[in-house]
Amino acid sequence: MAESKEFELPKLSYALNALEPAYSSELLELHHDKHHAAYVAGLNKTLADLAEVREKNNYGTINQLQKNLAFHFSGHILHSIFWLNMSPNGGGSPEGPLAEAIDANFGGADQLRAQLSQAALGIQGSGWSALCFEPISGRLLVEQVYDHQGNLPNGSLPLLVLDMWEHAYYLQYRNEKKKWVDAFWDLVDWSDVSDRLTGVKPLNLRLAA
Ligand code: MN
Repeated sequence: MAESKEFELPKLSYALNALEPAYSSELLELHHDKHHAAYVAGLNKTLADLAEVREKNNYGTINQLQKNLAFHFSGHILHSIFWLNMSPNGGGSPEGPLAEAIDANFGGADQLRAQLSQAALGIQGSGWSALCFEPISGRLLVEQVYDHQGNLPNGSLPLLVLDMWEHAYYLQYRNEKKKWVDAFWDLVDWSDVSDRLTGVKPLNLRLAA
């Protein structure tokens, strides 16, 4: 059963120093090897705790466990996508069907960049700014994600995510959040974002007969 399989920290597809100078080796190592690893461990622990709760038929801790599940699972998903959204050869502009969808939903790549950046800079506390595909309407939306999981419309699927937790930038950028946001755009792997859109577009949530 899938339930028994433990989640693992995905390996990075580039060297720790490959994103320099935009993202330092020290920061990438800390962020991936320590912070992301902690969400993976938390996810596995929560799933084991839930299995125990079911086994004992004792649901006294269910609210905390459901909260932990959302927190750690979203942390694992968002960080996994985040690493793949970046590349040592990143930057440039979206192309093809992704570019067309961005034009149709935002008026252009510059407008998407402005909205996603401002949503990132506006986050109060810890969170993410994300370009998402909303499969009921077929629209692309920019969403602010509080903590890892809050404020996200159910069903929305993240395509491009920008980590604005302090642990994502503070070691290198200190309080200069805008410098981190500007640097991020030079790392974006648009072909990865494009592949994600291709993957999610056929989804049908069957909200109507
Ligand atoms: Mn993070």
